[in-house]
Amino acid sequence: MCLICERNELSKRGENPFLIKEFKHSYFVVGDHQYFKGYSLLVLKEHVEDLTDLAADIQKEFLSEVTMAAKVLKKHYGATRINYSCLGNFVPHVHFHLFPRYDADLADDRTKNPWHCIEEFKNFSLNESEARTIAKELQELVYQS
Ligand SMILES: [Zn+2]
Repeated sequence: MCLICERNELSKRGENPFLIKEFKHSYFVVGDHQYFKGYSLLVLKEHVEDLTDLAADIQKEFLSEVTMAAKVLKKHYGATRINYSCLGNFVPHVHFHLFPRYDADLADDRTKNPWHCIEEFKNFSLNESEARTIAKELQELVYQS
């Protein structure tokens, strides 16, 4: 079982403190770190390795879930934009990283790729209680939208 499938099992059982919201095809979860404030992920429920392996209707619905999550992040954090990252190199299970970006951080360097900051991520790790607090704040917004 892959790392994401293991975490999805926790979400399914209601035991994932990082879970914000369950959508039809995905789980919206708080990221393990908050180097970029509001960093979150959308992970597909089903173990599928690539977007091209999804049926066309599911691709569309999943992308609309990604968009709903991004709207919540923009609204809650006042992010200037969201950087979307769907790689699958490390864990080949379809998931989107959502990195909220802000005027101040973009002013430094507009070309800055979030992954170039990976060494800093560990310094902004969340514990379960911090994750639960963020998840709860965002949950309320998802239900309003
Ligand atoms: Zn998986």
